[in-house]
Order: sequence, then structure tokens, then C-alpha cells
Amino acid sequence: MTTSDPALERAAIACAGARKAVALTGAGISVESGIPPFRGRGGLWEKIDPMKYAHVAAFENDPAEVWKVLFLGISHVLEKARPNAGHQGLWRLEEMGVLQTVITQNVDGLHQQAGHRDVIEFHGTHAFVRCSVCGRRSDWRSVPLEVIPPRCECSGVLRPDVVLFGEMIDPRLLQRSQQLAAGCDVMLVIGTSATVEPAASLPVIAKHSGAFIIEVNPEPTPLTHRISDVTLLGSAGEVMEQMASMVQRLRSNRQPS
Ligand code: NAD
Ligand code: ZN
Repeated sequence: MTTSDPALERAAIACAGARKAVALTGAGISVESGIPPFRGRGGLWEKIDPMKYAHVAAFENDPAEVWKVLFLGISHVLEKARPNAGHQGLWRLEEMGVLQTVITQNVDGLHQQAGHRDVIEFHGTHAFVRCSVCGRRSDWRSVPLEVIPPRCECSGVLRPDVVLFGEMIDPRLLQRSQQLAAGCDVMLVIGTSATVEPAASLPVIAKHSGAFIIEVNPEPTPLTHRISDVTLLGSAGEVMEQMASMVQRLRSNRQPS
């Protein structure tokens, strides 16, 4: 990917003209922050199957095991993670008035750390836990971890406030995300394999409502060629840094002197 790449130029021109762009992000945008995705290469998950451990049935059967293997493992990685050039490039698009909202499937809080004001955490957040019985929500850092699984005052088992496989998306978040997808003029789809529903349908809704779809991923996905108007095959950090700079140049050239 170079700044003279015609695909990058097409994407930047679309972004520079956008008024209500929306981003949909997946685990790939956080890979350069040291957080491995569930799918694909990445040391942390090579020994265990996160798809199995991240299912609600696994948690219900053996919450202590899921805490030990999955939740504590993720928390250890998230503690050290900081936003990378991909998050920062996206934030620059918001600062320029191009990007309205980030819909993320990630639970790592890195878009908020980068500065975004409006982030929809489609799959919840690892920064909070909630009681699986009474629903009380509290900060992850306030949870005593001497005994696993940790328990609420009501004795219910606590769990991260994330959406596990087999669980529903919060209907208000789903509805708002679908409305944003239907109303945006550009959708940036960054670092998602576009295989987990219902998030995977958001670019399809945007496309059918007339939006220009820009995909950023080192690998092709089911959206490539079919839904995406432009696919930028590269890492989120590299592509978003170049894209933000190009959009900035295009928009400053447009300003009346
Ligand atoms: P996913 O289905 O979104 O797949 C990851 C995608 O990222 C792949 O298409 C891969 O080609 C792409 N990718 C890899 N490196 C990249 C890079 N440097 N730049 C851009 N794209 C890159 O995600 P998943 O890993 O299968 O996770 C499924 C769900 O699990 C997520 O939706 C999320 O809820 C949860 N999860 C969250 C995190 C996080 O919060 N960071 C990490 C892992 C999993
Ligand atoms: Zn409780």
C-alpha cells in the first residue's frame, strides 16, 4: 500500500466528501496493539479454542474454567494494550468532521482511549463485570479475584459485561447501529472477518442504502468484491495513517482561501 495507490485515493476522496461516515471495526484493528484476534494467527489462542470457551454454554457449565482460561487471559492482554496507528487514524477522521460514530465488535476500549466520543460497543466491554443473577454492573478493577469465579454480594457469579457466543446483542444497540448503517454516506469496515452476525450485516444494510463501503483488512473477506466498493489490503495501522493524511490534504485543498 503506497500513497499513490489508486484504491487508497478513491477511498480518501469518498471520505473527504463524507458528512456522516460510520466505522465498523473488528478484532483486526487491535492486532497492532498486541491483542490477538480469535481467528487467524495469534499465539494466545493457538492452544485453546476461544470459540468454544467464549460460548455462553461453556460459561454456564464451568464458569471457573472460562474465567481461568478466557477472561483472565484477555484481561492480562488488555491491561497493557494502547491505541495504535489504526485507532489514531480513525480518530483523526472524527476530528476532521468526517466520522460520526464507531461501531466496534471489540471489547478492549481502545477507540475511547484514542479519543472517540460516540462508540457503540456492539459486543459489550471487558472494562465492566455484571452479575449473572441480579445484573448489577461494576468496574472490572473493583472485582476481588482471590476466588475464581468471583461472586456478587447476592452470591451470583460475576462475568465480564461482554456478549458471549449464543447470546443476543442489546436490542437498543442493534437498532441504533442498523439506523446508522442505513443513514451513513460512507462505511469504513476495518479489521473484521465479517462473519459474526448480526454485525456482519451492517455493511450490507449500508450498501443497500447507498453508502460507499471501504474495507481495510490484510485478507479478503466475504464482503470483498460483493459489498465493498474499495478493499485496501493492508494492516489497519499502515492504511489508516495514510488515509487520514490523504483525507486531510484533500479537505484542506477544498477550503476557500
Ligand atoms: P474478526 O472476525 O473480526 O477477525 C479478525 C479480522 O482482522 C480478520 O479478517 C483478519 O484478517 C483481520 N486482521 C488481522 N490483522 C489485521 C490488521 N493488522 N489490520 C486489520 N485487520 C487485520 O474477529 P475475531 O478475532 O474472530 O473475533 C470475534 C469476536 O471476538 C469479536 O467480534 C469480539 O467480540 C471478540 N474479540 C475482541 C477482541 C478485542 O476486543 N480486541 C479481540 C479478539 C476477539
Ligand atoms: Zn448479584
